[in-house]
Amino acid sequence: MAMTTITRFAPSPTGRLHVGNIRTALHNWMLARKAGGRFVLRIDDTDAERSKEEYVEAIREDLDWLDLAPDVEERQSARLALYEDAFEKLRAAGRIYPAYETQQELELKRKIQLGRGLPPIYDRAALKLTDDERAAKEAEGIAPHWRFMLDHEEAITWEDGVRGPQKFDSSQLSDPVIRRADGSWLYMLPSAVDDIDMGITDVLRGEDHVSNTAVQIQMFTALGAAPPRFAHEALLVGKEGKLSKRLGSLGCDAFRERGTEPEALVALLARLGTSQPVEPIAARETLVNTFDLSTFGRAPAKFDDAELDRINTAIVHQFDYARVADRLPEGMDEAAWHAIRPNLERVGDAGEWWSIVTGPVEQPAFDDETRAYLAQAAEALEWSANPWGDLTARLKNETGRKGKALFLPLRQALTGMNHGPDMGELLPLIGETEARARLQSAARG
Ligand code: GLU
Repeated sequence: MAMTTITRFAPSPTGRLHVGNIRTALHNWMLARKAGGRFVLRIDDTDAERSKEEYVEAIREDLDWLDLAPDVEERQSARLALYEDAFEKLRAAGRIYPAYETQQELELKRKIQLGRGLPPIYDRAALKLTDDERAAKEAEGIAPHWRFMLDHEEAITWEDGVRGPQKFDSSQLSDPVIRRADGSWLYMLPSAVDDIDMGITDVLRGEDHVSNTAVQIQMFTALGAAPPRFAHEALLVGKEGKLSKRLGSLGCDAFRERGTEPEALVALLARLGTSQPVEPIAARETLVNTFDLSTFGRAPAKFDDAELDRINTAIVHQFDYARVADRLPEGMDEAAWHAIRPNLERVGDAGEWWSIVTGPVEQPAFDDETRAYLAQAAEALEWSANPWGDLTARLKNETGRKGKALFLPLRQALTGMNHGPDMGELLPLIGETEARARLQSAARG
């Protein structure tokens, strides 16, 4: 029986989503959509102090804005009983043990190891404590934190969806702390428990989680479950090639503010770091159908604002009126959108162009000869199905002007600009009376 693909995006609500998390969310969404599966939003809010409800809401809103709404939303704070059960099960199986070292003691051990040129792996000193020693610690009022005991006999291997075959020597990893002395959970165990319980088939996340995967694979096995498929994508870096602070805080708010359309961000992030070309593809279906983990590279994906702006412009040029109508100035209709659209880098700039339709426009000073020409144009203007075509054909005939000498003074008088939307589309929007008035006022100077 083929298993339904179930992916998850698991942000901690300790801040807004940034472009790196957005990319991870998108890829998980696409992986699920392509397989006709399900996409779970899992809110990793076991850290009660740092998790904030406002961020949970912001995450939902951002996913909505990006059109990446999940099929299911879960939150870890509502699932603590499951983690408790898993904890008891692993503890009974001898895979979890109490440890009493303070942060300072652990830090000192690490320093000594590093000083001797050894890897800073936890020495399992807590395992060697006798019952009496443990009782003495507890009597002193020192509550233990808890570590998961890795199985050193078992080499950890998996076939990574991006990185290929992976192999870890578990004796080179520290037994991870999974629970704090106050009973609160660290990320590692709850995530594995949830992945099992929610039937997650594919864990796709950043390569900063590769060593977590090694540990979690042993947790899956210890909990009697088959591990899901894993894939770790190379991290997103700035165009200079470095992990950047700026990217770490660049979120949907900032994108919205700068006029970036969600379709543009999605088109870029869908393909960035893959061998497929980044293209201004607004149709989500096309992106989903071509999504393919095997095209992901191992090199960091470089995020370049200029590339995003180019994609954005090309996407705006594809938008139909319905997509933008509620963001256009009062009175700007479908014909106006089509006339103005090719001149826009951002939808928000439509108002500036629309104001040249509604006027008033600021005309340049013309010389005498040009003023005479514009007076002639005001006379020649006739309203037809194609007023611009007719006007310029007639003026060409009457004056012998052509090219720039024919067109530019008209554009300048009618719009106050040297360039802009196609005059054939613009002139009908300006309307006969207003167009004639503009030509006449330019002719008067
Ligand atoms: N909450 C974890 C994080 O934000 C989730 C990692 C995972 O995908 O398992 O890094």
